[in-house]
Amino acid sequence: FMSEKSAKIFVAGHRGLVGSAIVRKLHDQGFTNLVLRTHSELDLTSQSDVESFFATEKPVYVILAAAKVGGIHANNTYPADFIGVNLQIQTNVIHSAYKHGVKKLLFLGSSCIYPKFAPQPIPESALLTGPLEPTNEWYAIAKIAGIKMCQAYRLQHQWDAISGMPTNLYGQNDNFHPENSHVLPALMRRFHEAKANNADEVVVWGSGSPLREFLHVDDLADACVFLMDQYSGFEHVNVGSGVEVTIKELAELVKEVVGFKGKLVWDCTKPDGTPRKLMDNSKLASLGWTPKISLKDGLSQTYEWYLENVVQQK
Ligand code: GDP
Repeated sequence: FMSEKSAKIFVAGHRGLVGSAIVRKLHDQGFTNLVLRTHSELDLTSQSDVESFFATEKPVYVILAAAKVGGIHANNTYPADFIGVNLQIQTNVIHSAYKHGVKKLLFLGSSCIYPKFAPQPIPESALLTGPLEPTNEWYAIAKIAGIKMCQAYRLQHQWDAISGMPTNLYGQNDNFHPENSHVLPALMRRFHEAKANNADEVVVWGSGSPLREFLHVDDLADACVFLMDQYSGFEHVNVGSGVEVTIKELAELVKEVVGFKGKLVWDCTKPDGTPRKLMDNSKLASLGWTPKISLKDGLSQTYEWYLENVVQQK
């Protein structure tokens, strides 16, 4: 992969958190022939549109970073969208990519594919060994189907489709929606607005005790390029940072980075979700990849981006 800098690469979902980071990384690495389509240019839920896109463009590589994503509240509120839209996007892209001779495809999922009470840190082999966390099972089932589809196409057609499962991600181009986003951007925005409005307190959801692992999206993008180049296995690969914090610790860190001086108030009517989900990163580490961006640095960089691109654009 690394030696084919002019090969045509379709990055699906290039405006999102993950897709945009992958595009930056590919450009940095000297790739010159990316094919990108916005949502309005190509509706990935439309089988016929995706089919004619592949027939016309004939990309050589595909990185599938397009998905309907959201935090704990969005997953709970829009279960039909989370399962339906994701199944449509991935089925259309994977099948058409295979049919039109794509050489290799990388499918991306999430750590929520694992059972709620999986052993920690969670090895790849924990997949389908127990019931899922109910707050995001709709999304999880779609992503599990994507992994299995890649495996099935590899078995039946000897096609090089691989899957990477990142832990909780953050960074520039994240969704900073107050209710529907993930915890990290939601807190960054809330602390920022509280500071701007001289508020005394900020509300944080749940008990603060759940543990979460966070990975900067630029590290994920680096891992994706690494996997495209180095990995052609049947099993999906975890992509984690190995660093875990409680939601309370995260809230304190974001508070410090933003410079909010007030206090935290916990809203225990909001769900905690799964108590812990730390990825076992050893498979990827044994292949030779490790993350580089610390949570503190990543948070500062993300806040700078937020100030320049979200606050100033308003
Ligand atoms: P999860 O990792 O799939 O559970 O997704 P989230 O990122 O949405 O939530 C992670 C944890 O952060 C949960 O325990 C939430 O209750 C907690 N949390 C605290 N404040 C917030 C918030 O403002 N938004 C979100 N999405 N989660 C929050």
